[in-house]
Amino acid sequence: LNNIAVLTSGGDAPGMNAAVRAVVRTGIYHQLNVFGVMYGYRGILKNEIFPMESKSVANIIQRGGTILKTARCKEFYEYEGRKKAYENLKKHNIDGLIVIGGDGSFNGAQKFSQEFDIPCIGLPGTIDKDIAGTDNTIGFDTAVNTAIEAIDKIRDTADAHDRLFVIEVMGRDAGYIALHSGIATGAEHIMMPERKTELHDIIEELQANERRKKLVNLIVVAEGDDTGGANEVARRIKESCPQLDTRVCILGHIQRGGSPTCTDRILASRMGYAAVDALLEGIHNVMIGIVNDKIHYTPLDKAVKAKQEIDPEWFKIVKILAS
Ligand code: ATP
Repeated sequence: LNNIAVLTSGGDAPGMNAAVRAVVRTGIYHQLNVFGVMYGYRGILKNEIFPMESKSVANIIQRGGTILKTARCKEFYEYEGRKKAYENLKKHNIDGLIVIGGDGSFNGAQKFSQEFDIPCIGLPGTIDKDIAGTDNTIGFDTAVNTAIEAIDKIRDTADAHDRLFVIEVMGRDAGYIALHSGIATGAEHIMMPERKTELHDIIEELQANERRKKLVNLIVVAEGDDTGGANEVARRIKESCPQLDTRVCILGHIQRGGSPTCTDRILASRMGYAAVDALLEGIHNVMIGIVNDKIHYTPLDKAVKAKQEIDPEWFKIVKILAS
């Protein structure tokens, strides 16, 4: 192993910079030449590949976004695109590629590593925490903390006006951001795709709450919830409870930005270090995960979108604590 390259791909997540920094500095420590690739796979195709030094990653551990930028790349889905990528990497004698991204990015890396002789290592960078083979993903903790900060503020104004707020958080098909932020802010209800919620049950509870003069209620809805998102939930509540002052807040992209939390910085540093270590050890075409606080390798073809089991006890806790 002499020359490695690192890129960030798919949706951005806070902590990606900390991972890039760890890869670059660990590689340099082992006397490897480390190349950065701009804009994910698109940058390989456009030959936006440049040598990185230790100081290229100075002062970025605390920054959100990704200094390497990220993009989605249609050509990489086709063999011809991947072949061109291989040729460009070979121009720089790259013999190891580290991909920081989500399951789609790992899919691409898996195909590429099967077709060509450049080993790939994946690092799970996504706020959704929906990837098999790891207990946590880079960006999740920051996104949850951003959501908490916002929901706390919404509770202040909800409280001042005796309002009901339906708050939509990100997570795509996964409800972890909703579950964690909902518990941490004392939300009265959490709606997420992993668990079917009957809206009429919630409505009945809201009406009972109203009778006992509990007027401030927060409902946290995951964007992937089957009910159809915060607007639809609020519309149906207004229909059944016109007397309640019901408002909607969709948190949106603020959840993707910001300075990574301590947890995400440490996770990214540890995973970035482990990625270079794996290449040096001859461990190829795996995603680096952390399971029970230990580094865990998952073959790239098994590092897919996954729904983790959610203990039903959590919903009991939510109900008891918010009553
Ligand atoms: P996020 O989960 O945050 O969206 P992601 O990595 O899943 O991140 P995608 O847009 O699915 O994001 O994938 C990123 C890029 O990986 C794609 O634009 C494409 O270039 C490549 N890619 C994804 N799936 C495949 C595939 N099946 N074959 C080849 N390349 C792929």
